[in-house]
Amino acid sequence: MGEVVGIPRALLYYHYYPMWKVFFESLGQTVVTSGPTTRAVVDAGIKVTVDEACLPVKVFHGHVLALAGKCDYVFIPRLVSVERRAFICPKFMGLPDMIRCNCRDIPRIIDSCINLSRTTREYMRAVYSTGRMFTGSALRILASHNRARTALARYTRHIEGGLTPDEAMAVMGMAPSFDEPAHGTVAAASSSGGGPAAAMGAGRVVVGLVGHPYIIYDPFVSMNVLRRLREMGVTVVTSDMLPAAVTEREAARFPKRVFWTLGRRLLGAGFHFLRSGAVHGCLHMRAFACGPESLIGEVLERECARRRDVPFATITVDEHTGEAGILTRLEAFVDVIARRRKP
Ligand code: SF4
Repeated sequence: MGEVVGIPRALLYYHYYPMWKVFFESLGQTVVTSGPTTRAVVDAGIKVTVDEACLPVKVFHGHVLALAGKCDYVFIPRLVSVERRAFICPKFMGLPDMIRCNCRDIPRIIDSCINLSRTTREYMRAVYSTGRMFTGSALRILASHNRARTALARYTRHIEGGLTPDEAMAVMGMAPSFDEPAHGTVAAASSSGGGPAAAMGAGRVVVGLVGHPYIIYDPFVSMNVLRRLREMGVTVVTSDMLPAAVTEREAARFPKRVFWTLGRRLLGAGFHFLRSGAVHGCLHMRAFACGPESLIGEVLERECARRRDVPFATITVDEHTGEAGILTRLEAFVDVIARRRKP
């Protein structure tokens, strides 16, 4: 009988959960996730982290603590790089160490090191050493890895097709069993209308939302930004819904290559939203104390000030942010867009 691997529902869960789930399940293990983020989860994370940590890292700690007693292992990969010549925010590299240092009585950590910055050799070594914890068969590990990559490709297609992670997981039959898709159903998503171009054609407000998935798709952290905008009749296109080719092309306009993978995608998405005429407004949601995003935000603000044709707003979230304040800002932002569009 297999063991139970826990995956915290925070940080890169939103990018990679289907891949990780398929990998461990193909190796005969059971996968569980922590529940949705709540005040108690955030408070538990705040209690064990330093004040200077960004909110998503604090939230991650809370999710790891929530998995205590529910699994044999908790999967916290040491993510160094997910592509050639680029890196992930340093917080991800130190995550397993931070968790070991800050959290007591948690399951054993699987801290596979993912580093694709130079070659795939080191990455495949990590895949095999992780798989060998559960099977002695290299062939089975390779087959599980291939199935996992296929699941990730399907998931990415769904996201680029306009679904949120929860909606994509629901379509793939992978939504964690104990909760509903957090941002409404897939039907609700598609009822916003056949994509942003169709929504624009139908006279609806379309907003480009730039932000890390672990901020904008976490209803508690983002104060329900997606649901709130949809309730106002806005069609939302997130940075993840843009094909990588588009964000790469746009980010290349910046004079210096941004070597943080996620930051580069956000920058490219922001440039696209501000320059392409594909949206009526661009909203940047970021975490307080995030180094990479303070640079991205500054560059986007300058681009917006230079062009002056697409309204742009920044919302910064931290553990003290209140939903009422966010709602007021969203209403004001949508109101500005609506006024601008009046003939
Ligand atoms: S990119 Fe920013 S928000 Fe994300 S983990 Fe790093 S510091 Fe935190």
